[in-house]
Amino acid sequence: MPELTFDAIIAGGGIAGSTTAAALAAQGLEVLLCEAGLPSEKRLAGELMHPPAAQRLEQLGLLHVLEEAGGVAVHGFAVYAGGDAAEAILHYDEVPGSRKTGLAIEHADLTRALLKEVASRPRVTLWDGARVLEMDAESHSPSARIRHEGVERTVRAQLFVSAEGRGSGLRERAGIEVERGESARMVGYRVHGGRLPHRGYGHVFAGGPASALAYQVAEDEVRVMFEVAEGEEFDAEAYLAILPQPFRDDVRRAISETKGQSSRIYALTPRRTTRGRLAVVGDAGGCVHPLTASGMAFCTADAMRLAEAVGGGLRRGKDVRQALTRYERGRRGPMRTRVTLGPAMVEALCSASPEMELLRRGLFRYWSKSSRGRGASLGLLSTQEARGWVMLREYAAVCVHALLAEGRQVDLSAAVALAGRSTEQLGRLLDLPGRFAA
Ligand SMILES: Cc1cc2nc3c(=O)[nH]c(=O)nc-3n(C[C@H](O)[C@H](O)[C@H](O)COP(=O)(O)OP(=O)(O)OC[C@H]3O[C@@H](n4cnc5c(N)ncnc54)[C@H](O)[C@@H]3O)c2cc1C
Repeated sequence: MPELTFDAIIAGGGIAGSTTAAALAAQGLEVLLCEAGLPSEKRLAGELMHPPAAQRLEQLGLLHVLEEAGGVAVHGFAVYAGGDAAEAILHYDEVPGSRKTGLAIEHADLTRALLKEVASRPRVTLWDGARVLEMDAESHSPSARIRHEGVERTVRAQLFVSAEGRGSGLRERAGIEVERGESARMVGYRVHGGRLPHRGYGHVFAGGPASALAYQVAEDEVRVMFEVAEGEEFDAEAYLAILPQPFRDDVRRAISETKGQSSRIYALTPRRTTRGRLAVVGDAGGCVHPLTASGMAFCTADAMRLAEAVGGGLRRGKDVRQALTRYERGRRGPMRTRVTLGPAMVEALCSASPEMELLRRGLFRYWSKSSRGRGASLGLLSTQEARGWVMLREYAAVCVHALLAEGRQVDLSAAVALAGRSTEQLGRLLDLPGRFAA
């Protein structure tokens, strides 16, 4: 069999692999995309995309494909805390610089539609049903060993990408260590005709045993999912109690009449995301709790970052390793913000500890009083904003609002000195009323 050569080989045709293939091909690179076999409808995974993901898909000419496949627009998030009315509604159009809508679509429809479209692009070759067994990305003669249609082949390339998802075996074989957090389970149902209180919005329901999420995945279908702690049974009634009516009845019906899906969730942070000519993208490069729905925004950001770093230089003989250093550096800050914010948000919204209940009151108070605060929070959650100092500023604002919600006086003199601003300036920055002492 003649030896094959491509500029880049990608292992994995989920959203990270598909978008990376489209972005690299748009830079003029010849790409081989290998997908071992897309998971079936049974897989519970990402469906709600924040506006930054939708914007990048639009840039790659892929957004219309998902709209045509039945995707629905998402306008923001409604947050409930056990009552019949939302404690807060966060709108994407309050986020500075953001596209106004994201998109939601059932996971299997999403991945299938993207892969089909990307495979039709010039310079992309799709090997469906092909597993990349090994990537030798560090030798003088870099190549990958791939099993396709029962035959093992060696294919040469300059750039190797693992888009294999969080369980990436090629990342492990490259000696990249990972830190893995505690795991839990997400149990999900599709609710046909589900009457969500705020159509077109993602819903977070706090106040139950753990986090619960719901959003439309099609015009007449809602996805609902519940987090279940490791080793515990799914206690449907405990979650149903926190859902507002009539949505609660719709979900109860779906739970009794349909078979649910289940997926393990855990945070994962690799120590690095490149080695030699290998780049790791998407969930293979790290993932967090799904409550913030940041996974696919990160997958698409990785695709763009990698293509931008590599550019057309690879074809002109430039060393791809320098480009990968740029790629790794570029994602470090946003990833740090994401892995800090994700678990903090889950704790703040769902933990029953007195400290977190206090913080939650501060969060709701802040969101009810400040449009800027709502925009800043949703900007961070949606990954539109990734700067660490913005996250710290917003955290400080929530803490101050938590104390004010308790009727306390707040002494901000240390913060005033640290920020080098006047008390009034700091008050305006944190959207505080005149009720605090400096
Ligand atoms: C319950 C749950 C809910 C979530 N909700 C959201 C949400 O609402 N919004 C959001 O943005 N994110 C969400 N996420 C996260 C989101 O699902 C992931 O970020 C996203 O799917 C990761 O895509 P990926 O392409 O990196 O990996 P994957 O989707 O895991 O795709 C990897 C692909 O690689 C293939 N593969 C693996 N190894 C090889 C190999 N060696 N050779 C060839 N092919 C291979 C696999 O078959 C698979 O198709 C959720 C996750 C979970 C678990």
